[in-house]
Amino acid sequence: MDNRSADQRSLEAKTARQILWSSDRRFQGWTCSQCEWNYPLPTLLTDPEARTAYDRLAAARFREHKCADHLSRLGSPDAEDFTARIRKLVAQGFKPKDAVDLFLQEIALEYRNQPKTLAQAKADGEDFLRRVRAGLI
Ligand SMILES: [Zn+2]
Repeated sequence: MDNRSADQRSLEAKTARQILWSSDRRFQGWTCSQCEWNYPLPTLLTDPEARTAYDRLAAARFREHKCADHLSRLGSPDAEDFTARIRKLVAQGFKPKDAVDLFLQEIALEYRNQPKTLAQAKADGEDFLRRVRAGLI
C-alpha cells in the first residue's frame, strides 16, 4: 500500500512539472518547476531564429530529463547538505557515531515516505563515519 501511494505521488509530481523561464542577474534560461534542471541561454544569443531553436532544444531536453536525477527544488537537502547536518551535530559536541545515529533518526521522520532519500542519507552517514575512521575529517 505504501509503495503504491508513493508511486502515485511521484507520478503526480512528474505530470505536474512545468518548464519555467527564469531570468535574473545570475541566470537566464529554462528551468524545471520541480527540480534544479536548467538549460541556460547562451550569452549573446540574440538572433530570433537562434532563440527559437534554443527554445525548442530546451523543451526537448526538458521532456527527457528525470527530476529524480537532479536536486529537488522543494528544499529537499542534497548529499552535501546531509553531510553538513552531521557535521553540525558533531560541532555541537556529539561523537561522530552518535551524530550519525541522531541524524538518521531525524531523517527517518522527515522523509518517512521517501526510501530513496533515506537510502541516500544512510549512505552519507556511512561515508561520513568512513572518512572519520580514515582520518580524512
Ligand atoms: Zn525536473
